[in-house]
Amino acid sequence: MPDTPRRPEGTQDFIPEAIPAWRKLERVVGEVFERYGYLEVRPPLFENTSLFHKSTGETTDIVEKQMFTVPSRAEGGESVTFRPEFTPGVIRLILENQLLKQKPCVKLWYSGPVFRYERPQKGRYRQFHQFGVEAVGSNDPLLDAETIAAFDQILRRVGVTDHAVRINSMGCGECHGVYREALKAFIAPNLASYCENCRRRFDRNVFRVLDCKVPADKERNEKAPPAVDSLCAACRTHFESVQRGLGAAGVAFAVDKRIVRGLDYYTRTVYEFSSTRLGAQDALGGGGRYDGLVGQMGGPEAGAVGFSAGSERVLIAMAQEAEAARKLDFYAVAADDESRVDAFRAAQALRGADLAGDLDFEARSMKAQMRSANRAGAKFAVIVGSEERAQGRVRVKPMEGGEERLVTLDEAIRLLKGEAR
Ligand code: AMP
Repeated sequence: MPDTPRRPEGTQDFIPEAIPAWRKLERVVGEVFERYGYLEVRPPLFENTSLFHKSTGETTDIVEKQMFTVPSRAEGGESVTFRPEFTPGVIRLILENQLLKQKPCVKLWYSGPVFRYERPQKGRYRQFHQFGVEAVGSNDPLLDAETIAAFDQILRRVGVTDHAVRINSMGCGECHGVYREALKAFIAPNLASYCENCRRRFDRNVFRVLDCKVPADKERNEKAPPAVDSLCAACRTHFESVQRGLGAAGVAFAVDKRIVRGLDYYTRTVYEFSSTRLGAQDALGGGGRYDGLVGQMGGPEAGAVGFSAGSERVLIAMAQEAEAARKLDFYAVAADDESRVDAFRAAQALRGADLAGDLDFEARSMKAQMRSANRAGAKFAVIVGSEERAQGRVRVKPMEGGEERLVTLDEAIRLLKGEAR
Protein backbone atom coordinates (compact mmCIF):
# COMPACT_ATOMS: atom_id res chain seq x y z
CA MET A 1 0.00 0.00 0.00
CA PRO A 2 1.47 3.37 -0.88
CA ASP A 3 1.46 5.98 1.89
CA THR A 4 -1.35 8.53 1.56
CA PRO A 5 -0.08 12.10 1.09
CA ARG A 6 0.44 14.21 4.18
CA ARG A 7 0.31 17.97 4.58
CA PRO A 8 3.66 19.77 4.86
CA GLU A 9 5.12 20.14 8.34
CA GLY A 10 3.82 23.17 10.25
CA THR A 11 0.66 23.56 8.19
CA GLN A 12 -2.90 22.86 9.24
CA ASP A 13 -6.12 21.65 7.64
CA PHE A 14 -9.29 23.35 8.78
CA ILE A 15 -12.03 20.76 8.43
CA PRO A 16 -15.72 21.77 8.47
CA GLU A 17 -16.09 21.60 12.25
CA ALA A 18 -13.32 24.18 12.69
CA ILE A 19 -14.94 26.73 10.41
CA PRO A 20 -17.67 28.24 12.65
CA ALA A 21 -15.07 29.53 15.15
CA TRP A 22 -12.99 31.02 12.31
CA ARG A 23 -16.06 32.72 10.86
CA LYS A 24 -16.99 34.15 14.25
CA LEU A 25 -13.50 35.56 14.76
CA GLU A 26 -13.36 36.98 11.23
CA ARG A 27 -16.79 38.59 11.59
CA VAL A 28 -15.90 40.24 14.92
CA VAL A 29 -12.49 41.39 13.62
CA GLY A 30 -14.12 43.15 10.64
CA GLU A 31 -16.93 44.66 12.69
CA VAL A 32 -14.74 46.05 15.45
CA PHE A 33 -12.06 47.46 13.13
CA GLU A 34 -14.68 49.16 10.93
CA ARG A 35 -16.35 50.62 14.01
CA TYR A 36 -12.98 52.12 14.95
CA GLY A 37 -12.69 53.71 11.48
CA TYR A 38 -10.20 51.24 9.93
CA LEU A 39 -10.67 50.13 6.30
CA GLU A 40 -9.72 46.71 4.96
CA VAL A 41 -6.81 46.10 2.56
CA ARG A 42 -5.64 42.91 0.87
CA PRO A 43 -2.02 43.02 -0.24
CA PRO A 44 -0.58 40.07 -2.21
CA LEU A 45 0.58 36.91 -0.41
CA PHE A 46 4.15 37.46 -1.60
CA GLU A 47 6.29 40.54 -2.01
CA ASN A 48 9.74 41.22 -3.43
CA THR A 49 12.23 39.79 -0.93
CA SER A 50 14.09 43.07 -0.60
CA LEU A 51 10.99 44.65 1.01
CA PHE A 52 11.48 42.53 4.14
CA HIS A 53 15.24 43.05 4.24
CA LYS A 54 14.68 46.79 4.24
CA SER A 55 11.83 46.92 6.75
CA THR A 56 11.60 43.87 9.02
CA GLY A 57 15.37 44.11 9.43
CA GLU A 58 18.45 42.19 8.31
CA THR A 59 19.33 40.93 11.79
CA THR A 60 15.88 39.75 12.84
CA ASP A 61 15.04 36.04 13.23
CA ILE A 62 12.45 36.41 10.49
CA VAL A 63 14.87 37.68 7.84
CA GLU A 64 17.84 35.63 9.01
CA LYS A 65 16.14 32.25 9.16
CA GLN A 66 12.40 32.15 8.61
CA MET A 67 11.51 33.39 5.15
CA PHE A 68 9.91 31.25 2.45
CA THR A 69 11.64 32.66 -0.59
CA VAL A 70 11.15 31.67 -4.22
CA PRO A 71 13.99 32.55 -6.59
CA SER A 72 13.14 34.44 -9.76
CA ARG A 73 12.72 32.38 -12.91
CA ALA A 74 14.17 35.24 -14.93
CA GLU A 75 17.95 35.54 -15.18
CA GLY A 76 19.05 38.21 -12.68
CA GLY A 77 15.43 38.79 -11.59
CA GLU A 78 14.43 39.44 -7.99
CA SER A 79 13.23 36.67 -5.71
CA VAL A 80 9.88 36.92 -3.98
CA THR A 81 9.05 35.97 -0.39
CA PHE A 82 5.76 34.76 1.04
CA ARG A 83 4.90 37.40 3.62
CA PRO A 84 6.28 36.56 7.08
CA GLU A 85 4.32 39.54 8.44
CA PHE A 86 1.88 42.12 7.08
CA THR A 87 3.34 45.50 8.05
CA PRO A 88 5.92 45.93 5.24
CA GLY A 89 3.39 44.96 2.56
CA VAL A 90 0.73 47.27 3.96
CA ILE A 91 3.11 50.24 4.13
CA ARG A 92 4.25 49.49 0.58
CA LEU A 93 0.58 49.38 -0.46
CA ILE A 94 -0.05 52.77 1.16
CA LEU A 95 2.92 54.35 -0.62
CA GLU A 96 2.38 52.68 -3.99
CA ASN A 97 -1.30 53.68 -4.05
CA GLN A 98 -0.56 57.15 -2.65
CA LEU A 99 -3.14 56.73 0.08
CA LEU A 100 -1.46 59.37 2.26
CA LYS A 101 -2.25 61.99 -0.41
CA GLN A 102 -5.97 61.42 0.17
CA LYS A 103 -5.95 61.65 3.94
CA PRO A 104 -3.35 62.78 6.50
CA CYS A 105 -3.96 59.73 8.70
CA VAL A 106 -4.69 56.41 7.01
CA LYS A 107 -6.15 53.65 9.17
CA LEU A 108 -6.17 50.17 7.62
CA TRP A 109 -6.88 46.62 8.76
CA TYR A 110 -6.03 43.24 7.32
CA SER A 111 -6.44 39.54 7.95
CA GLY A 112 -4.91 36.52 6.23
CA PRO A 113 -2.19 33.86 6.14
CA VAL A 114 1.49 34.50 6.89
CA PHE A 115 4.47 32.18 6.46
CA ARG A 116 7.50 31.62 8.64
CA TYR A 117 9.95 28.73 8.61
CA GLU A 118 9.72 27.87 12.32
CA ARG A 119 10.07 24.74 14.41
CA PRO A 120 6.41 23.70 14.67
CA GLN A 121 4.71 23.04 18.00
CA LYS A 122 1.28 23.72 19.52
CA GLY A 123 0.39 27.32 18.63
CA ARG A 124 3.42 27.69 16.34
CA TYR A 125 3.08 26.90 12.66
CA ARG A 126 4.78 27.59 9.34
CA GLN A 127 1.58 28.83 7.79
CA PHE A 128 -0.56 30.72 10.29
CA HIS A 129 -2.95 33.64 10.21
CA GLN A 130 -2.79 37.17 11.48
CA PHE A 131 -5.20 40.05 11.73
CA GLY A 132 -4.22 43.55 12.65
CA VAL A 133 -4.09 47.24 11.86
CA GLU A 134 -1.68 49.89 10.66
CA ALA A 135 -2.49 53.56 11.39
CA VAL A 136 -0.14 55.83 9.48
CA GLY A 137 0.24 59.62 9.58
CA SER A 138 -0.05 60.61 13.22
CA ASN A 139 2.19 60.82 16.27
CA ASP A 140 -0.73 61.08 18.66
CA PRO A 141 -0.30 58.77 21.68
CA LEU A 142 -4.09 58.36 21.73
CA LEU A 143 -3.73 56.45 18.47
CA ASP A 144 -1.44 53.96 20.23
CA ALA A 145 -4.12 53.60 22.92
CA GLU A 146 -6.82 53.20 20.27
CA THR A 147 -5.09 50.24 18.58
CA ILE A 148 -4.72 48.53 21.96
CA ALA A 149 -8.37 49.22 22.82
CA ALA A 150 -9.52 47.78 19.45
CA PHE A 151 -7.56 44.54 20.04
CA ASP A 152 -8.90 44.34 23.58
CA GLN A 153 -12.47 44.76 22.33
CA ILE A 154 -12.09 42.07 19.67
CA LEU A 155 -10.89 39.62 22.30
CA ARG A 156 -13.78 40.43 24.61
CA ARG A 157 -16.33 40.15 21.81
CA VAL A 158 -15.13 36.65 20.91
CA GLY A 159 -15.20 35.61 24.57
CA VAL A 160 -11.53 35.96 25.54
CA THR A 161 -11.58 37.92 28.77
CA ASP A 162 -8.68 36.79 30.91
CA HIS A 163 -5.83 38.06 28.74
CA ALA A 164 -3.10 40.40 29.96
CA VAL A 165 -2.02 43.62 28.24
CA ARG A 166 1.57 44.71 28.84
CA ILE A 167 3.09 47.89 27.45
CA ASN A 168 6.54 49.42 27.33
CA SER A 169 8.42 52.15 25.49
CA MET A 170 11.60 51.61 23.45
CA GLY A 171 12.10 55.33 22.79
CA CYS A 172 13.01 57.23 19.61
CA GLY A 173 16.24 57.33 17.59
CA GLU A 174 17.77 59.70 20.13
CA CYS A 175 16.97 57.40 23.07
CA HIS A 176 18.22 54.40 21.07
CA GLY A 177 21.69 55.98 20.89
CA VAL A 178 21.79 56.32 24.68
CA TYR A 179 20.30 52.87 25.20
CA ARG A 180 22.67 51.19 22.71
CA GLU A 181 25.62 52.39 24.78
CA ALA A 182 24.01 51.32 28.07
CA LEU A 183 23.29 47.85 26.66
CA LYS A 184 26.75 47.43 25.19
CA ALA A 185 28.32 48.43 28.48
CA PHE A 186 26.21 45.78 30.23
CA ILE A 187 26.94 42.97 27.75
CA ALA A 188 30.59 43.69 26.88
CA PRO A 189 32.21 42.24 30.06
CA ASN A 190 30.46 38.86 29.44
CA LEU A 191 30.31 38.90 25.66
CA ALA A 192 32.53 35.81 25.34
CA SER A 193 29.95 33.70 27.23
CA TYR A 194 27.06 34.66 24.95
CA CYS A 195 26.04 32.40 22.03
CA GLU A 196 27.54 32.85 18.59
CA ASN A 197 24.41 34.59 17.29
CA CYS A 198 24.49 37.15 20.09
CA ARG A 199 28.20 37.81 19.62
CA ARG A 200 27.53 38.59 15.96
CA ARG A 201 24.48 40.71 16.79
CA PHE A 202 26.40 42.67 19.43
CA ASP A 203 28.14 44.68 16.72
CA ARG A 204 25.45 44.66 14.04
CA ASN A 205 22.40 45.38 16.19
CA VAL A 206 22.88 44.99 19.92
CA PHE A 207 19.10 45.23 20.66
CA ARG A 208 18.62 41.84 19.01
CA VAL A 209 20.71 40.22 21.78
CA LEU A 210 17.66 40.79 24.01
CA ASP A 211 15.56 38.50 21.76
CA CYS A 212 17.89 35.54 22.24
CA LYS A 213 16.08 32.33 23.25
CA VAL A 214 19.20 30.48 24.50
CA PRO A 215 18.40 29.89 28.21
CA ALA A 216 21.78 31.06 29.59
CA ASP A 217 21.64 34.25 27.52
CA LYS A 218 18.04 34.84 28.47
CA GLU A 219 18.97 34.59 32.12
CA ARG A 220 21.88 37.02 31.74
CA ASN A 221 19.59 39.43 29.88
CA GLU A 222 17.15 39.53 32.78
CA LYS A 223 19.55 41.90 34.47
CA ALA A 224 20.10 44.14 31.42
CA PRO A 225 19.09 47.78 31.84
CA PRO A 226 15.60 48.35 30.35
CA ALA A 227 15.09 50.72 27.39
CA VAL A 228 12.48 52.71 29.29
CA ASP A 229 15.22 53.99 31.64
CA SER A 230 16.94 55.73 28.70
CA LEU A 231 13.90 57.67 27.44
CA CYS A 232 14.22 61.33 26.45
CA ALA A 233 11.69 63.82 27.86
CA ALA A 234 9.45 63.73 24.75
CA CYS A 235 9.29 59.91 24.74
CA ARG A 236 8.53 59.87 28.46
CA THR A 237 5.62 62.27 27.92
CA HIS A 238 4.38 60.18 25.01
CA PHE A 239 4.46 57.02 27.13
CA GLU A 240 2.55 58.71 29.96
CA SER A 241 -0.08 59.93 27.49
CA VAL A 242 -0.55 56.40 26.11
CA GLN A 243 -1.22 55.22 29.64
CA ARG A 244 -3.71 58.03 30.24
CA GLY A 245 -5.43 57.11 26.97
CA LEU A 246 -5.72 53.48 28.02
CA GLY A 247 -7.18 54.61 31.34
CA ALA A 248 -9.76 56.70 29.47
CA ALA A 249 -10.60 53.72 27.24
CA GLY A 250 -11.04 51.49 30.30
CA VAL A 251 -8.36 49.00 29.21
CA ALA A 252 -6.56 47.26 32.07
CA PHE A 253 -2.80 47.08 31.41
CA ALA A 254 0.55 46.75 33.15
CA VAL A 255 3.86 48.40 32.30
CA ASP A 256 6.46 45.72 31.63
CA LYS A 257 9.96 47.07 31.15
CA ARG A 258 11.13 43.76 29.66
CA ILE A 259 9.08 43.90 26.47
CA VAL A 260 11.25 44.26 23.38
CA ARG A 261 9.64 43.44 20.07
CA GLY A 262 11.66 41.23 17.76
CA LEU A 263 11.44 43.48 14.70
CA ASP A 264 13.71 46.35 13.81
CA TYR A 265 11.27 49.12 13.13
CA TYR A 266 9.68 49.73 16.53
CA THR A 267 9.97 53.11 18.27
CA ARG A 268 8.34 54.40 21.44
CA THR A 269 5.30 52.33 22.41
CA VAL A 270 5.47 48.53 22.21
CA TYR A 271 2.86 46.16 23.59
CA GLU A 272 1.92 42.54 23.94
CA PHE A 273 -1.28 40.67 24.65
CA SER A 274 -0.90 37.27 26.29
CA SER A 275 -3.05 34.54 27.76
CA THR A 276 -2.11 31.97 30.37
CA ARG A 277 -4.45 29.56 28.56
CA LEU A 278 -1.96 29.19 25.69
CA GLY A 279 0.89 27.40 27.46
CA ALA A 280 4.45 28.00 26.22
CA GLN A 281 3.39 30.06 23.20
CA ASP A 282 1.43 32.56 25.28
CA ALA A 283 1.46 35.62 22.96
CA LEU A 284 -1.91 36.48 21.42
CA GLY A 285 -0.42 39.39 19.53
CA GLY A 286 1.63 42.50 19.77
CA GLY A 287 2.56 45.72 18.15
CA GLY A 288 3.64 49.26 18.68
CA ARG A 289 4.80 52.43 17.06
CA TYR A 290 7.19 52.51 14.11
CA ASP A 291 7.71 56.20 13.41
CA GLY A 292 10.78 55.79 11.20
CA LEU A 293 9.60 53.05 8.84
CA VAL A 294 7.48 55.00 6.34
CA GLY A 295 10.26 57.55 5.73
CA GLN A 296 12.83 54.79 5.54
CA MET A 297 10.75 53.07 2.84
CA GLY A 298 10.83 56.22 0.70
CA GLY A 299 7.59 57.78 1.94
CA PRO A 300 7.06 60.98 3.91
CA GLU A 301 8.19 61.18 7.54
CA ALA A 302 5.03 59.88 9.19
CA GLY A 303 4.24 58.57 12.63
CA ALA A 304 2.67 55.11 12.56
CA VAL A 305 1.40 52.46 14.93
CA GLY A 306 -0.08 48.99 14.49
CA PHE A 307 -0.35 45.46 15.81
CA SER A 308 -0.65 41.89 14.58
CA ALA A 309 -2.58 39.18 16.34
CA GLY A 310 -2.20 35.46 15.82
CA SER A 311 -5.60 34.10 14.78
CA GLU A 312 -4.80 30.49 15.76
CA ARG A 313 -3.73 31.65 19.22
CA VAL A 314 -6.93 33.66 19.66
CA LEU A 315 -8.95 30.62 18.54
CA ILE A 316 -7.19 28.40 21.10
CA ALA A 317 -7.96 30.93 23.86
CA MET A 318 -11.58 31.17 22.66
CA ALA A 319 -12.02 27.40 22.80
CA GLN A 320 -10.48 27.15 26.26
CA GLU A 321 -12.55 29.95 27.74
CA ALA A 322 -15.71 28.50 26.19
CA GLU A 323 -14.92 25.16 27.80
CA ALA A 324 -14.30 26.81 31.18
CA ALA A 325 -17.59 28.71 30.82
CA ARG A 326 -19.43 25.44 30.23
CA LYS A 327 -18.40 24.32 33.70
CA LEU A 328 -20.86 24.85 36.50
CA ASP A 329 -19.87 27.37 39.16
CA PHE A 330 -21.36 25.23 41.93
CA TYR A 331 -23.19 22.08 42.87
CA ALA A 332 -25.44 22.45 45.91
CA VAL A 333 -25.15 19.48 48.27
CA ALA A 334 -27.50 18.54 51.12
CA ALA A 335 -25.68 16.82 53.99
CA ASP A 336 -28.89 15.10 55.08
CA ASP A 337 -32.51 14.74 53.96
CA GLU A 338 -33.79 17.56 56.20
CA SER A 339 -31.37 19.97 54.50
CA ARG A 340 -32.52 19.36 50.92
CA VAL A 341 -34.78 22.39 50.88
CA ASP A 342 -31.92 24.50 52.32
CA ALA A 343 -29.61 23.30 49.56
CA PHE A 344 -32.33 24.25 47.06
CA ARG A 345 -32.70 27.70 48.70
CA ALA A 346 -28.93 28.23 48.50
CA ALA A 347 -28.88 27.15 44.82
CA GLN A 348 -31.66 29.62 44.01
CA ALA A 349 -29.85 32.49 45.74
CA LEU A 350 -26.64 31.73 43.83
CA ARG A 351 -28.45 31.38 40.50
CA GLY A 352 -30.16 34.71 41.25
CA ALA A 353 -26.66 36.20 41.45
CA ASP A 354 -25.88 34.94 37.89
CA LEU A 355 -23.95 31.87 39.00
CA ALA A 356 -24.50 28.58 37.19
CA GLY A 357 -25.25 25.55 39.31
CA ASP A 358 -27.21 22.37 39.78
CA LEU A 359 -28.26 20.00 42.56
CA ASP A 360 -29.45 16.45 43.14
CA PHE A 361 -33.14 15.56 42.75
CA GLU A 362 -32.94 11.95 43.84
CA ALA A 363 -32.31 12.39 47.57
CA ARG A 364 -29.03 10.53 47.26
CA SER A 365 -26.31 10.29 49.87
CA MET A 366 -23.90 13.15 50.37
CA LYS A 367 -21.11 11.04 48.90
CA ALA A 368 -23.17 10.39 45.74
CA GLN A 369 -23.97 14.11 45.50
CA MET A 370 -20.27 14.95 45.69
CA ARG A 371 -19.63 12.47 42.88
CA SER A 372 -22.28 14.24 40.78
CA ALA A 373 -20.63 17.58 41.57
CA ASN A 374 -17.39 16.18 40.24
CA ARG A 375 -18.95 14.71 37.12
CA ALA A 376 -20.75 17.98 36.37
CA GLY A 377 -17.38 19.74 36.44
CA ALA A 378 -18.55 22.12 39.17
CA LYS A 379 -15.90 24.48 40.48
CA PHE A 380 -17.34 24.48 44.03
CA ALA A 381 -19.60 22.33 46.17
CA VAL A 382 -21.92 24.41 48.34
CA ILE A 383 -22.86 22.17 51.27
CA VAL A 384 -25.72 22.64 53.73
CA GLY A 385 -26.40 20.39 56.76
CA SER A 386 -27.92 20.88 60.19
CA GLU A 387 -24.78 22.53 61.55
CA GLU A 388 -24.62 25.05 58.69
CA ARG A 389 -28.37 25.67 58.91
CA ALA A 390 -28.13 26.44 62.61
CA GLN A 391 -25.51 29.10 61.88
CA GLY A 392 -27.32 30.53 58.81
CA ARG A 393 -24.29 29.64 56.69
CA VAL A 394 -23.14 27.34 53.91
CA ARG A 395 -19.91 25.41 53.48
CA VAL A 396 -18.02 26.25 50.28
CA LYS A 397 -15.60 23.56 49.11
CA PRO A 398 -13.40 24.10 46.04
CA MET A 399 -13.66 20.90 43.98
CA GLU A 400 -10.05 21.01 42.85
CA GLY A 401 -8.75 21.13 46.38
CA GLY A 402 -8.15 24.07 48.65
CA GLU A 403 -9.53 25.43 51.86
CA GLU A 404 -13.17 24.77 52.83
CA ARG A 405 -14.99 27.86 54.13
CA LEU A 406 -18.07 28.34 56.35
CA VAL A 407 -19.66 31.55 55.05
CA THR A 408 -22.93 33.45 54.61
CA LEU A 409 -24.66 33.21 51.22
CA ASP A 410 -23.52 36.73 50.33
CA GLU A 411 -19.94 35.77 51.07
CA ALA A 412 -20.40 32.56 49.07
CA ILE A 413 -21.53 34.62 46.04
CA ARG A 414 -18.38 36.73 46.24
CA LEU A 415 -16.18 33.67 46.68
CA LEU A 416 -17.72 31.89 43.70
CA LYS A 417 -17.40 34.99 41.53
CA GLY A 418 -13.74 35.22 42.45
CA GLU A 419 -14.32 38.60 44.12
CA ALA A 420 -13.18 37.36 47.52
CA ARG A 421 -10.48 34.93 48.58
P1 AMP B 1 4.84 38.94 15.48
O1 AMP B 1 4.54 39.46 14.09
O2 AMP B 1 6.02 38.04 15.54
O3 AMP B 1 4.81 40.02 16.50
O4 AMP B 1 3.62 37.99 15.81
C1 AMP B 1 2.34 38.47 16.11
C2 AMP B 1 1.51 37.33 16.64
O5 AMP B 1 1.37 36.32 15.64
C3 AMP B 1 2.12 36.62 17.81
O6 AMP B 1 1.82 37.27 19.02
C4 AMP B 1 1.44 35.27 17.73
O7 AMP B 1 0.15 35.34 18.29
C5 AMP B 1 1.31 35.05 16.26
N1 AMP B 1 2.39 34.19 15.75
C6 AMP B 1 3.68 34.53 15.50
N2 AMP B 1 4.37 33.49 14.99
C7 AMP B 1 3.49 32.47 14.91
C8 AMP B 1 3.57 31.12 14.45
N3 AMP B 1 4.70 30.62 13.95
N4 AMP B 1 2.47 30.35 14.52
C9 AMP B 1 1.31 30.83 15.00
N5 AMP B 1 1.16 32.10 15.44
C10 AMP B 1 2.23 32.91 15.39
